[in-house]
Amino acid sequence: MSEPTIFDKILAKEIPSEAVYEDEHVYAFRDISPQAPVHVLVIPRKRMQSFADLQHADPSVVASFMQGVSKAAAKLGLEEGGYRVVFNTGSDALQTVPYIHAHILGGRKLGWPPG
Ligand code: 5GP
Repeated sequence: MSEPTIFDKILAKEIPSEAVYEDEHVYAFRDISPQAPVHVLVIPRKRMQSFADLQHADPSVVASFMQGVSKAAAKLGLEEGGYRVVFNTGSDALQTVPYIHAHILGGRKLGWPPG
């Protein structure tokens, strides 16, 4: 894989982040530029570039990643009010970090459709 991304460095604790949930499969931390009262990123410990890679991944890796996203949202107390999970994938979706990440957004009424 190419150069370490900012999220590789966050996972390696070379760059500080505010963790909100972690387990053996995923790491969840607050976005540095929040777009909602709650804005958290969830990454798998094993790097993939984007959501497009999930089709080739071991289903158990996909399952533990998705379960981690759901667990992080629950830990953030978002289940009652609801929340959105976003995977920006590739250039049209404005993905800026080439390390797959789920955005969890919540804590307010979110608009639809997104931009
Ligand atoms: P993307 O556009 O790739 O889906 O989202 C990347 C996200 O990473 C953005 O929401 C951006 O604010 C966040 N981000 C970029 N650099 C950092 C950082 O150093 N720390 C944290 N916590 N978030 C970051």
